[in-house]
Amino acid sequence: MAKVVAVDQDCCIGCEVCAQLCPQVFRMSGDEEGHDHNHDHSDNKSTVHNPHGASEAQIETAMDACPAACIYWQS
Ligand code: SF4
Repeated sequence: MAKVVAVDQDCCIGCEVCAQLCPQVFRMSGDEEGHDHNHDHSDNKSTVHNPHGASEAQIETAMDACPAACIYWQS
């Protein structure tokens, strides 16, 4: 069965490395919100918007590059 990637948002520090390495899979949540309600960027977190947007090898590259090690396989 194909593995599904996930991000632990509690430990994501919003560095954007994963979004740069695998933009098909990871997206920064701050990017999509046109209106920034609280006017700070502390909630800029990575989210998985397409778990199958890249090969497992590509996703593992992002996993290894994540400085907070918060990208993991869900199953
Ligand atoms: S690489 Fe890790 S810490 Fe950086 S934005 Fe992605 S999930 Fe968050």
